Order: sequence, then structure tokens, then C-alpha cells
Amino acid sequence: MSQLLFLGSGSAFTVGDENFHSNIFFITKTGKKLLIDCGSDLRFSLYREGFSHRDITDIYISHLHSDHAGGLEYVGLTTKFDPQCEKPNLYLSHDITAEIWEHTLSGGMGSIEGNITSLNSFFNVHPIDKNRSFRWEMINFELVKTIHINNGTSVMPTYGLFFEVNGVKIFITSDTQLCYEKLQNYYQAADVIFHDCETSKYPTPVHSHYEQLVKLPEQIKGKMWLYGYQPGELPDAKTEGFLGFVKRGDKFVIQNNCVTVKHSNILR
Ligand SMILES: [Zn+2]
Repeated sequence: MSQLLFLGSGSAFTVGDENFHSNIFFITKTGKKLLIDCGSDLRFSLYREGFSHRDITDIYISHLHSDHAGGLEYVGLTTKFDPQCEKPNLYLSHDITAEIWEHTLSGGMGSIEGNITSLNSFFNVHPIDKNRSFRWEMINFELVKTIHINNGTSVMPTYGLFFEVNGVKIFITSDTQLCYEKLQNYYQAADVIFHDCETSKYPTPVHSHYEQLVKLPEQIKGKMWLYGYQPGELPDAKTEGFLGFVKRGDKFVIQNNCVTVKHSNILR
């Protein structure tokens, strides 16, 4: 069996010790782990689940917000100076590969004692080309371009993932506005959807808000788990046709064409 373990399921500004950034371990039946997004609170969320930097061997980055990429300095530096660690593999779209170093990481990581460094000093970098897919452990991960932020000139590169494992087609949106029409094929094809869901009283235009998602067709809501939400009270998503809100520590076990959830012990 394979599983998705949510180290956190909250938004960028999640505070408190009940949740962390929406970073996910995809774990194969042989125990190989792909970290899907690496936020700035990763060291805490790893620790909470009994992991450490030594468990980070493969990373996928969806976009450059710090709740998705801000933990790379921690991972890069700890693995580099720990003789038990090998250089982690870093998978990311070609259009953020230069930027992640030049604008996100080089300030803190560009110099180490006696050396000027590059992204390759810390990671085996695998830029994903315009075909937008990469293979990892015999699984094809397709990058799905979402509309997260349009600054008026361009759309900030942001890519969710679509993949099939053990007969189950999974769509993880990463951060996205609701683009149901544009991404309809993915919504239809997926067996399970993990969807960005803002719950703030004051919606931003850059995420899908619960009040928008609740208007989706019942058939789509019925295969949708919600994550990326704000701290505080949550709507009763199950009553409104969703599978529910993902909680920190929830594990989704994928085997024999179906997904079963093992909830963490935290209050819900
Ligand atoms: Zn974002």
C-alpha cells in the first residue's frame, strides 16, 4: 500500500500547535518518501510526526510561497552537514528553478564556510520541462498548472499534481483559485481530489473559498477533501457533500483501487 500523510493541512498563516503548513509525505509501499511541498514550519511538522531531516530524500515544490518552499533552507543545510544524509532530490517546474535560488534561497544559502554555493550544492535538481511530468518510483506525476496569483502581467507559476497509484487517480491542487471550467478534465478524471480551501471570513482572491467550493456539482464534492484552511471553526463539510476537512496527521491509505483515511488523534 501507499499513503499520503498530511504533516499539516493549514494555510500559510497557520499558528498554534494544532496545525502546520500543508506539506504532505507521499509514502510508497517500500517506504520511499516524496515530500510534496516544504514550508517554513516543516521542522516542527516533521518532529510532530516523529520524523527529522533524515527522512527527506525527495522533494516536490509546487510554487515559491514560503509555506511551500520556505523549509528548503532547513532541509538543504541540515542534510548537507549531516554525514548520514545524501543530497535530496528536488523536483520542480523549469520556470521556477532559477528563481528559487536567485530570489528565495541564495540569501541564506549562497555562502558556506570557504565556498560560494549554488542550488546544486544542496540538492540534486530535476527541473521539469514543458511536458510537465516527472517519474518517481515508477509513478508518473503530471504537473497541473493552476491560477493562484495573476499579477496583471503574468500568472505566478503554480502547479498541482495529478497521479495514479494502486488504481486510484489523485489530484492535489496546491494553492489555486477555483478554476473548475479550466481544470474540469482533472476534476472529472480524479477519484480523489485534495483541494485548496480558504475558510477566512474575509476571502482573498487567490485561493478557492469554501463558499465557492460548496456550489460545485455534488458528484465532484463527493470525492473532495479540503485543506489549506485557516485556524478556527470549520463549516460542516460532510453535511454539505464533501468528504471532509483534512486534519494534521491524517493518513490516506491507497490500495486495491480505493483510499481509506486513518485520522490522527487530534480533536476534530
Ligand atoms: Zn501560495
